[in-house]
Amino acid sequence: MTVMQGGHCVAPLKALLDAAVETARAYYEFYCPEFFDSHQSPATSYCVRPYPAGGRDKPHHIPVPVFATAETRFDDGDRVKKSEIVLKLSVDLFDLNTQESLPYILLHEALCHVFQGCAAGQARRTTATGFDIFSEGWIDSLISEIFLDFRLGKSPRQEFNQILAGQGQICAGIEMQEARANTARVPMSLFAPYVARGRTVANWVRTALSDRLGSDGSRHAFFQLSLGINLRLEGADQRNALVHNLMLAIQGSINDGVKVGDALNRFADDRSVGNFISRFVPNR
Ligand SMILES: [Zn+2]
Repeated sequence: MTVMQGGHCVAPLKALLDAAVETARAYYEFYCPEFFDSHQSPATSYCVRPYPAGGRDKPHHIPVPVFATAETRFDDGDRVKKSEIVLKLSVDLFDLNTQESLPYILLHEALCHVFQGCAAGQARRTTATGFDIFSEGWIDSLISEIFLDFRLGKSPRQEFNQILAGQGQICAGIEMQEARANTARVPMSLFAPYVARGRTVANWVRTALSDRLGSDGSRHAFFQLSLGINLRLEGADQRNALVHNLMLAIQGSINDGVKVGDALNRFADDRSVGNFISRFVPNR
C-alpha cells in the first residue's frame, strides 16, 4: 500500500511522514543553505508494508517491544534524486508504544538517510544499510537534540511539536535510540557496535568543538559539519572511512601527519565541510 495520496485510514501516517521529512529538510536548510542554493532537494515518497504479511513478529533486531521499523531506498535518475521511506509494521501487534516510537523511527530515516549523498554528484547506489557507522551512530545522535529543540520551542518546524515530540513520543524514541546503541544488552541489537562507535566519535567531535567555540557556537558548527558530511559523502564505505580515519587520528596513531585538532581548528575558522572531509577521506 502506498500512502502517497493519503486516504482517511492512512492520513495520520502520512502526516507523520511529512512532519519527519519536513523537519529534517528544515534542519538541512538551516545548517547547510549552500546545498539548497545549488542542488534540488530529493523527491520523497512513502510506502507502508505489513511485516510479514499477516505475521506476528518484530520487523527488526533492536531489543525493544516496538513492532515497526523503516528503511530508505534510493531511485536516483540523471537529474533528480529520489528517496523512498518504506515503513514496515507488524499490523497485528501494533500498540501504543509502537505508535509513540514512530516519530523517532521516521526522523531517523528522514535525517539520517533521505538527504544523504544528495550533494555527491552521482546517483546513490543502494538502500541505506545498518552497517553505516556515520549514519546510524553519528547522525542519529542529533535526533535527541532535535527532540529537545521541540520541547524548548527552538525547532524550525514548531508546528509539528505535538505530532513528533509529545512526552510519550520522546520517551519511546529515546528508549529505542538507547537500545540501538547499547552493546551490553542481551540480546544486543545487530548494529549496536556500529551505532555506539559512531556516537563515540560524534561526542568527541562535539566536545572538541565546544572547547574551541563554547556551547552555543559548537552546536551550530557540529550540526553544520555533521549534516554537511551526510549530504556530501555518497556511500557507506566513504562515511565509514571518514569515521575510521577520524578515530585513528583521535587516538594519535595515524602516520601521515593528519592532526585532528588542526582539522577542527580549521573547520571552526573556515566552516568548510569539503576541507574537513578531504583530510580524512582519501581521493576526494
Ligand atoms: Zn538507518
